Order: sequence, then C-alpha cells, then structure tokens
Amino acid sequence: MDADLVIVGAGLFGLTVAQQAVEKTGARMQIIDVRDHIGGNAYSYKDKETGAEIHKYGAHLFHTSNKRVWDYVNRFTEFTDYNHRVYTTHKGEVFPLPINLGTINQFFHAHYTPAQAKALIQEQAGELAGTDPENLNDQGISLIGRPLYEAFIKNYTAKQWQTDPSELPASIIKRLPVRFNYDNHYFKDTWEGLPKDGYTAWFERMIDDPRISVSLSTDFFDSSQPFNRDALVGKVPVVYTGPVDRYFDYQLGELKWRTVEFKEQRYDEDDHFGCPVMNFSDSDVPYTRAIEFKNFNPERYEEQNHERTVVWEEYSRFASKGDEPYYPINTAEDRSLYTQYKELAGQQPQVVFGGRLGTYAYYDMHQVINSALMAFEKQIGPMLAQ
Ligand code: FAD
Ligand code: UDP
Repeated sequence: MDADLVIVGAGLFGLTVAQQAVEKTGARMQIIDVRDHIGGNAYSYKDKETGAEIHKYGAHLFHTSNKRVWDYVNRFTEFTDYNHRVYTTHKGEVFPLPINLGTINQFFHAHYTPAQAKALIQEQAGELAGTDPENLNDQGISLIGRPLYEAFIKNYTAKQWQTDPSELPASIIKRLPVRFNYDNHYFKDTWEGLPKDGYTAWFERMIDDPRISVSLSTDFFDSSQPFNRDALVGKVPVVYTGPVDRYFDYQLGELKWRTVEFKEQRYDEDDHFGCPVMNFSDSDVPYTRAIEFKNFNPERYEEQNHERTVVWEEYSRFASKGDEPYYPINTAEDRSLYTQYKELAGQQPQVVFGGRLGTYAYYDMHQVINSALMAFEKQIGPMLAQ
C-alpha cells in the first residue's frame, strides 16, 4: 500500500482532513467508506422525477458564525441565499417557529406588543419561578409557560425522544430561541445557505486531487479487504471516524443512539406544504416532521417538475445494532462509558478518532469541519511530518 494516511469515513471530518493533508504536506491519502457514496450523513442526490435535491440522511442546512470555517467552505462551493424557516401544525392550524410574537399572538388570538407578550409568558412560566429546571419538562414550562409548552414542545419531544420529557435533560431545548418580535429565522448564525450545486458537488471538489484515492463499499472491519483494522493499525497513521465502541468490538458495552427513518410520499402537486420543513406538534401524527425537498432550492425553478413533489416524513426511534446511529442519547451512563472508550482510544498507536461517531458527539457540519481543521493542525499534520 502506498498511502501515507488512511482515513476511515468519507464524511465531512474525513474529507476535510484529506484535503488539508494533501494541500499542506503533499502526502498520499487513502479514504475508505462502507457506504457507496462520499459525504457521510450530509450526502445528497438529485431526484429524477421532481428535480428535487434529496438529503438522504435528513435535512441538512449549512450555517455558521465561524469565519475560518465559512472562508474554508467557500473555497469549494458557492452558497445560495437560503434562509431556514420552519412551521408547525398544531390542532389543524399552522404556526411559525421558533416560538415568536407571531406564534404567541396566533395561539392566544391576540395582538400583544412585545412587552405585553413578555409579561404574559413570565406570568405563565411563574409556576416554576425561582427553580433551576433540571428536566426538559420544567425547562420548557419555565421558558414559555405551560400552554405553549404543551402545544408545541411536549408531544413533539416525546415523539422525537420516545421518553417522557420529565426524564430528559433540560439542555435539549435550552438552545431553542423564544423571540418577542416577529423574527422567524430558525438560525442565529452570521452565515447561512445551501451549496449552489448540491452537497455532493461540494464534497467532490474537496478531494479532487490525484493524491487522494477513495474506496467505497469498503468496511474497515472486513479483514478480507486490504484496508482493515488489523492490517493497518500501528503500521500507517489512521484517522477513524466510525463509531468508537465498534472500533473496540464493544468490549466495554454499547453507546446509545437515536436513529431516524423516512417514509416517502409523492403528490401530483407542485407544492404540498409551501415550505421546506413542516413540524407536527401533536401526538396523533406519528412522525415528527415532513421535508419537502424542492422547497430548499427555489432558485432551481426552471429545472424542477411543477406537477409532482416528493415529501419525506421523519420518524424517530432508539437505534439498535445495524441501524444508522444519528443522535447520541448522552445519558450520564453514556458519558461515563464514552470517557472509558476515550481512554482506550488514547492508547491506540497512530490512530486519531474524529467526527461525530468517533467522539460520540452531536456536531453540526460547521463544528465538524472546525474540529477536523484543528485535529489536522494539532495531531495529524505533526504525525505525517515524522
Ligand atoms: P459522518 O457524516 O457520519 O461520516 C462518517 C462516515 O464514516 C460515514 O460515511 C460512514 O459510512 C463511515 N463509516 C463508519 N463506519 C465505517 C467502517 N467500519 N468502515 C468504513 N467507513 C465507515 N448539520 C448541520 O450543520 N446542519 C443541519 O441541518 C444538520 N442536520 C442534520 C440532520 C440529521 C438527521 C442528522 C443525523 C445530522 C444533521 N447534521 C446537520 C449533522 C451533520 O450530519 C454532521 O455534522 C456531519 O455529517 C458529521 O460528519 P462526520 O464526518 O463526523 O460523520
Ligand atoms: N422541539 C420541539 N418542537 C418543535 C421543534 C423542536 O419540541 O417543533 C424540541 C425537541 O425536543 C427537539 C429540540 O427542540 O429535540 C431541538 O430541536 P431542533 O429542531 O433544533 O433539533 P433537531 O431535531 O434538528 O436536531
């Protein structure tokens, strides 16, 4: 084998490391991925019938306030001026999210000013005044009061996590903004957009270099193919972005994840929801949200079919072995198990564990790119220079 570095996983962590390593050191890279495409969970493809760009593993919206990351990604793709906005259906009525003055006034059939709405929510949240909420239920009530919490958070969260909100950590919804004006932008970051030619074109440009080889449908744990764990570790530097517990054959136990599944619907309509993402906050609808991919790219109007549309309904559940791990569940027990795996990982010769699976962390794309840039500077670059 003539590679100087083997990268397991062609997701954003692996691709960023490969791009940096070639650019900064001229080293030769071998990337492998068990899937039949690059891009990891951010992979997308064009739907032939409707012309929609389908995000195969769920809706991916790029956003960041990190100037270094924004400059970096703009080297490989231009971004559209897409701004993420989400709506939610509750008892047959559609409301804007995140909860803002529009949501509050519609819900209470009122015309409150910002100050009046703030006072009302404060009063409704008053039942928990002076406490420091530890679980999601109490956090939700103290953030927006019981009526709004019960309408928009309680059942949605129960569907998404299959766990009673009073048993979930408060941190899950701490990041949800509540606004006392009519601003319904979902993200607060400085930069936001979707890659102009799609995610896959962006990722292909990152590794468009003869010194980077990619082997797809190749499992690191399959000893019948040459790029496997037992053949490589200790002999060549490896960047591993698969699940950390899998690397160690689950010897300390399994880390817990949630997975999502999609059910596709096609309609003889140009536009089914009128927006890209519609949440469903009531328990009688079994899925959490529906994604209408065409609506992410209004600038592609000419290329799209306006008589058909494709929608994916998203169902959430606990992952078992064989499922795609999506969101780390992150109970205290999981955190402590991960700490033990991290210790084992630190003892592996010339192996760098990275990305969301390798470090059991929920990362957005900009965070995973940033962590790959840092890992290259601090660990991988020096390893290649030896
Ligand atoms: P991954 O993309 O998971 O890549 C890891 C790769 O390793 C995979 O391709 C996998 O096949 C490969 N691999 C694993 N095991 C092996 C093995 N044994 N052998 C070979 N290859 C292996 N981020 C945003 O910024 N905005 C969003 O809107 C957003 N939405 C999301 C929605 C959902 C439903 C999910 C799940 C995530 C979302 N994210 C979003 C997060 C985003 O997907 C991640 O930040 C990013 O894709 C992580 O990149 P990664 O390289 O760490 O991991
Ligand atoms: N949430 C909710 N109702 C909604 C949207 C979000 O209750 O309509 C809660 C839910 O608990 C979810 C959390 O807020 O897990 C974070 O939501 P977000 O959409 O930011 O996260 P994602 O599911 O995209 O990771």
